[in-house]
Order: sequence, then structure tokens, then C-alpha cells
Amino acid sequence: MGEEAVKKKRHRELSDLLNSYSEQYYVFDDPDVSDARYDALYRELLEIEREFPKLKSKRSPSQKVGAKVPKIFKKVQHSTPMISLENAFNEADISAFIERVKKVSVTKDVELILEPKLDGLSASLIYNDGILTSASTRGDGFVGEDVTANILTVSSIPHKINMGRGSLEVRGEIVMLKSDFQALNKERERTGEKLFANPRNAAAGSLRQLDPTITASRKLTFFAYSAISTEKSFVSQSEILDTLKACGFVVSNKTALCKDQSEAFRFYKKIEKERAELEYDIDGIVYKVNDLSLQKQLGASTKFPRHSIAYKFPAEKAQTTVLNIITQVGRTGNITPVAELKPVTVGGVVVSRATLHNKDELEKKDIRVGDRVVLQRAGDVIPQILYPILKERPQHSVPFEFPLTCPCCGSILVREENEAAIKCINLSCEAQAIERLIHFVSKPAFNIDGLGDQNIRFLYERGIVKTPVDIFLLEEKNDELHLENFDGWGEISVKKLFKSVIAAKTITLDKFIYSLGIPQIGRSVSKLIANFLKTYPGFLKYIKNNEQNDLCKIQGVGSSIADDFNNFFKNENNRKIVIELGGDENFPGVISVSEIKEAESKIFSGQTVVFTGNLKKFSREEAKELAEKLGGRASSSVSSKTSFVVVGENAGQKIDQARKLNIKIISEDEFIEMTKDTQM
Ligand code: NAD
Repeated sequence: MGEEAVKKKRHRELSDLLNSYSEQYYVFDDPDVSDARYDALYRELLEIEREFPKLKSKRSPSQKVGAKVPKIFKKVQHSTPMISLENAFNEADISAFIERVKKVSVTKDVELILEPKLDGLSASLIYNDGILTSASTRGDGFVGEDVTANILTVSSIPHKINMGRGSLEVRGEIVMLKSDFQALNKERERTGEKLFANPRNAAAGSLRQLDPTITASRKLTFFAYSAISTEKSFVSQSEILDTLKACGFVVSNKTALCKDQSEAFRFYKKIEKERAELEYDIDGIVYKVNDLSLQKQLGASTKFPRHSIAYKFPAEKAQTTVLNIITQVGRTGNITPVAELKPVTVGGVVVSRATLHNKDELEKKDIRVGDRVVLQRAGDVIPQILYPILKERPQHSVPFEFPLTCPCCGSILVREENEAAIKCINLSCEAQAIERLIHFVSKPAFNIDGLGDQNIRFLYERGIVKTPVDIFLLEEKNDELHLENFDGWGEISVKKLFKSVIAAKTITLDKFIYSLGIPQIGRSVSKLIANFLKTYPGFLKYIKNNEQNDLCKIQGVGSSIADDFNNFFKNENNRKIVIELGGDENFPGVISVSEIKEAESKIFSGQTVVFTGNLKKFSREEAKELAEKLGGRASSSVSSKTSFVVVGENAGQKIDQARKLNIKIISEDEFIEMTKDTQM
């Protein structure tokens, strides 16, 4: 392959990767990678485009702002596009920016206004005759999401301003203060919810809610930095900031008017030093031309204004010593190595622990107890250990030995094929018990109403429900327990709970298998296995006799899934729980497990379907559910086992993977056509 072809291929790969990372970041507020990693790939893409400008197509991430608005929000067309900011990474980039501005300016000196680059998400607020009438997010720069109801709950935003008649659009950044972010994550940790990676994602996730009461319960702050008026002609950016302040908006006080470059660099360095102590996260300084008529003359490209640039701060790094390496059991049984560190401050946060992710990562980096290591905090609150400083490694240091048994219950650990995670699969392991119970009672499993996460936690912590079988003994024990007398329970809810426990006592084999939470055994695989083993006695015989290889006969169940299933039942405790629940020839059990009902239709029986890109007619979840209902298995990654890939708008690298593996690719409409006779 020639150099151009190699670069072209890499460009396509990078575009797909960056587009899919952006979707995860902007649409789901749940990034797959750190900002530093995203920025490094983005810079690589720009480098290739500089060499081969014709690759700069409309599809390239270099030409797009944010991501398309998902269907769930009402759309709002921006009257002036909300574009992004070009990045500068060193003083030379800023000098070049100033030179470009000077070429257009009639005066020799250009006055710059410097503002902190707030790390949140931008919002646009429309005031008509002084009354806040609508609010939206940036979206893809042209069309944003209508978040008016949510914005009205943000206390730092005035609902009424004294600006006379006409329309005023105020733009700014919605952020979550560091202290509010830490309190929110602490609470989420307590309630077992997924933690937000950083204040930016927490702010975006809190504002982009369909239910404004959720936004209201999170503390958000709006910093205003721009205004567009139909009535008033502003002459400078500093005048805009002063006006916004006078109207009652929060405006950052870390701004400076600079007459020359060296003054501007001094301000940058000053704020970089203060950054860790600020109440809110910033990731750089925005350099703006202060004179609005010059701004207008400079104009904008499709993605950036030519009058402003963001000089990014470098990722924050620090060095410290690894005091110990421990292993923790996560909610789903994953064993995570964690480094205990000599406390050190990185980016204003005192860090004393850092995750080492998994066995492979730990071995690759070869982090050892006693090592001096370099830590980085780049966009994410949780710092990462970059590498050990080998020349400072103590003599006689030894590599960390990953345990073979669970640090909590002592069970033998297992590793899934092609997975980095090492797991404890003992159903009774204390560390995972609560999460397993939550899964057990969830809708697609036993569907027990009235046993939410909080109630499970309550019952577990008091020793009332330790294993699934205890749930079915609750009513019997209640003569002594009197659950109705506890705070938050009450007679009606306890009665309702017992009613749904009774209803759950009859369950189909597929749901029963699913409820056990076996790694890789989701709803569709549970159905395939239940269809194969047919009855509860058949299932029991299988797990008692350990008929290891049989499951591989099922189309759609490979050896890795079969291994997980088999390994799960090698654990004596897990077999005991099954028998306590469903019984065997010696023990009656507490529930009755019936045969799987014939699925409504089986057109996708044994097939594995992958959905990628934005679907127009249904959400990803709905599409997966439909495929599963029709006997198929929905998977998130393309492999040789994939039967076909359904492609929506802006699909990324999965198409290329499918092409490489020669796997059928169909459009959303074709998928609908295939399913239409099933009358789902
Ligand atoms: P950006 O956030 O880097 O910069 C543009 C934005 O800065 C504007 O839209 C505005 O909202 C904001 N801003 C803050 N303070 C401002 C001020 N004083 N004046 C004017 N604007 C101000 O650009 P972007 O295009 O939204 O995002 C790109 C960045 O997002 C990347 O550099 C990357 O770090 C991150 N990102 C990360 C991932 C990931 O997966 N981790 C994915 C996509 C993007």
C-alpha cells in the first residue's frame, strides 16, 4: 500500500473512532476515553488532513461541532450557529493567531480579552422583552435541544432581566462546581449509581434530562460570556460581560484585558497556577479579540470563529510512591487492582488511590509496590498512573502477583475469553451480593415490584435477605420482623411487596437462568439455553452432571459463553442456591420453574444482530428488544459470529469491521421490512 493509501485508511479509522467517541460524549454524556486521548487522536487526524486536504470531507470530525440532537428532545434551530473554538497548545500557536488577526486589523495593536475556558456545556438562553422564553443546548451547532424547562430550575439564571424591549440571546456555560460534583458522586456511590467521570459530564448529564425535577435536584451554575441583541449594538466583548453582570448573570471574575502578547501570557500562567483552587473546572484560557467590529470582519469557518482561540492547559501531572496494591471486588464480580498511594495533590484534588483497571493493564505497565510513579489528571477526576520511574525502582522489587482467589470470599477467580476482566462468580460473595440481588428482582428477571435498590440494601444490611431464597421467605418471617413498622415501608407497600413475591413464584426457565446473573448470559442467551435444556429437571441434570460441552451445540452459543455457564455451576454455592429456589428430588424448593413459552416468532432464531449509528424509527434499546423477541441475540460488537449489521445514520467503524469480515449490512428500513410480518 502506498503512503497516501495508508494515510487515507488511518484517516478513515480515526474519523470513525472520533465520531463514535463524540456520540458517547455529547449524546450519552458518558465518554469512552479521556479527553487527553480524544485530543491526541484528533490532532493526528488534523495532521493527516494538513498533508492531504482533500480528506477534509463534511463527514470528518474536523468539520463538525458536537453531535446531532437525539430524537428524544424537541429541536431548536439556532439563529446564529453555536460553533466551537480552535485550540492552541503553545505560545507559538497564540502568536500565529495574533498575527492572523493583525493582518485584518486596521490598527497595529489588537486588544485581547482573556477569559477562563469553562469546562461544561454551552447553553443559549432567549429573552424576549426581558423575559426568559426558551433555552437550548449547542447540539450540532445549528440545531440544539430544547431544555427550557430544565434551565428554569437553575437558580443562577434570572427569569427576568432589565434590558428593555426586543430579543436578547445570552450564551454561556452550564457547569457543576467542584464541591457540588463531589457531593453528587458521593451520594451516587452511596446509592450504587454509576459515578460521573468529571464535572463536565455531570453538568451535561444533569441538564440533558427529560424530567426537569432531576435537573432541579442537581446543583448547576450558569456562567454567561456572550450576548446577541436585536436592539442594542455592543461595541466590545468587555461591554457585553459588564452588561451581563449588571443584568444579574454570573460572569467569571478571572478575566483580563491585554494590550500585548506578553501581558496575555502572564495572565495565562497566573490562572494556570490558580486553576486547582478555583471552584469550577477550567481547561484553558480563551483569547478573544475585544473589538466587536474587528470580530465581525474576521468572521468564522464552519467550526471556529477567527476572532477567538482557546489556549488549553496541559494535563495535570504529579509524582508519588505506590505504598500498596490491593484488589477489590466490583459490583459484578470484576476484580480490580487498585494502587494505594502516598497522598499527592493533582489538579487541586488530593489523590491517595488510583485504579489500575485490570490484570493486563497492571502487567503491561508493570507497576510495583514501592515504585515511584507519574500520575495524570486529564479531564477526568479519577487520575491514571502513566508509568513507573524505572531508574528509581527499589532494588529487589518484584512484580505484583495477581490473586487466584477472590479477596472477599476465597472462590477461584475466572477469566472470560477475550475479556480483560477477571471475575469472582460466587453468588454468595458478600461484595457482590447486593448488586446480584438487585439484578435478581429486576423486571426482566423475577420482576418483583416494591423491591427497589434501597429496599434490597436495607434488607441485606440488616441480615434479613442475604440470598435470593430469603426473598421468598419474607412473608413467613414477617410475624417477627414487622417490616411495616420500619421507616419508608408502611403496611400498604409491604402488602404490595408480598403480593408481587407470590406472583414471582412461578417463572419460566429462561428468566430463571437470566436472574442468576451469569457472566455473558443475557436475556437472549438465557432463552437459547432454556430452549435447549427444555425443562427445569433438564437444566438441573445438566448442572449436576456438568455436561460441559453440550451447550456449544446451540447455534449462537460459542465456547466462551458455554464456559461461563459451566464455570458458574462448578461453584457449589451457586448450585446450592438453584436447588434452594427450584428444588430437586430431595428438596421441595420455594418457587416453580416452568418451560419457556414459545416466542411469538422466531425469524432471528440463533442469529446475532449488531445495531450501529443513529436509528430513526426506534431507540437502540427498542431495536435490540425487537431482535431478541424474534429469537435473535443483540450484540454491541461485530465479530465473525455476527449474522448481520443494521446501520443507522452516522454509523462508524462497525461498518468497516463488518465489511472486513464479509458480514451482511442492512439499512434500518430493510430491518423493519424483515420484521413487519411479525406484528410485534
Ligand atoms: P471545546 O469544549 O473544547 O471548546 C468550545 C466550547 O468552549 C464552546 O462551545 C463553549 O461552550 C466553551 N467555552 C467555555 N468557556 C468559554 C468562554 N469563556 N468563551 C467562549 N466559549 C467558551 O470544544 P468542543 O468542540 O465542545 O469539544 C471539544 C473537546 O471536547 C475536545 O477537546 C475534547 O477534549 C472533548 N471531547 C472529548 C471526548 C471524549 O470522548 N472524551 C469526545 C468529544 C469531545
